[in-house]
Amino acid sequence: MSLKDGCIAEYVWIDGYNGLRSKARMLSEPPSKFSDLPEWNYDGSSTNQAPGVNSEVIIKPQAIYPDPFRGTPHILVMCDTYTPEGEPIPTNTRYECAIAMDTIKEQEPWFGLEQEYFLINPATGKPIGFPEEGEPEPQGPYYCGVSGSKMFGRDIADAHFKACVYAGIKISGTNAEVAPGQWEYQVGPAIGIEQGDMLWMSRYLLERIAEMKGIDVNYDPKPVKGDWNGSGCHSNFSTKAMREPGGYEGAIVPALEKLGKKHAQHIAAYGSGNEERLTGRHETASIEEFKWGVADRGASCRVGSDTAEKGCGYFEDRRPAGNCDPYVVTKMLVQTCCIDP
Ligand code: ADP
Ligand code: MN
Ligand code: MN
Ligand code: MN
Repeated sequence: MSLKDGCIAEYVWIDGYNGLRSKARMLSEPPSKFSDLPEWNYDGSSTNQAPGVNSEVIIKPQAIYPDPFRGTPHILVMCDTYTPEGEPIPTNTRYECAIAMDTIKEQEPWFGLEQEYFLINPATGKPIGFPEEGEPEPQGPYYCGVSGSKMFGRDIADAHFKACVYAGIKISGTNAEVAPGQWEYQVGPAIGIEQGDMLWMSRYLLERIAEMKGIDVNYDPKPVKGDWNGSGCHSNFSTKAMREPGGYEGAIVPALEKLGKKHAQHIAAYGSGNEERLTGRHETASIEEFKWGVADRGASCRVGSDTAEKGCGYFEDRRPAGNCDPYVVTKMLVQTCCIDP
């Protein structure tokens, strides 16, 4: 077997800490069809996913992307996780998400997720751009800013954008965020299960790029205490009916009303530590109550003014935390808005 006619496949999966793991294997030839990719396994006792006695976890390939690090013909493979008997393991949230997406596929669910994150200097534990002692200049100049003294990590954010484009991930943009060392990128519109697969793989690419610079990525909803924005993962959502004429009144408003009745269930599924972020300050709504509004960045869910004016489009659920599991968030949106009575 030679590299010349073979291909390196990096298998990526979600561990027992809501993080990502990967390992690489040589394939004798690049897969010409999906089923050419073999299943594989790993030691779940090392990832908080299996007791030591029967620690094998099976990984099944679910999506393939060109590998921007190794180049053509090498690939990244997003996998999900099973017991040797073929049952999805408890952290395999993709499994139920895929079932929900399949149930309503004729409604054509589209998602656009806005991933916010901080770049952290491991030596200080603080965001890059924060001095070792004290705090930087307060929020104001950083959001979408340009400056040699105030902007930190653009090389990482931009390399990540290009890596996602290379990999065929539907990244739609990136911007510097409100706090120093904080950035956002958006993946979408992506259809159904594709959103969760692509957002997870985009996080993997980001962490690999930051790793090359000795920097860590932090998605926590409130990593820096005090008067600094936290990180969210605003989740934009639409169905075919919402995008068609009359969709605002006919489909978006009813979906928002259903979401209002399941606020607690959604909050419970939208990431850990989110109570520190959803305070009613820093462009958030209070975690205690659900409210929606047009163009309201202090609402739980926001309808863009263009959608309200056109009478159709999409809405934004602003509640998910930066550390949410996109398989869970997209499943919950579909479950509440499209499946439950
Ligand atoms: P914001 O104004 O809240 O910062 P962004 O521009 O950062 O919004 O992100 C909006 C996201 O919504 C993008 O990923 C975009 O592709 C996605 N989007 C656009 N139209 C739709 C739609 N009809 N359904 C779902 N998502 C959509
Ligand atoms: Mn945004
Ligand atoms: Mn943002
Ligand atoms: Mn937003």
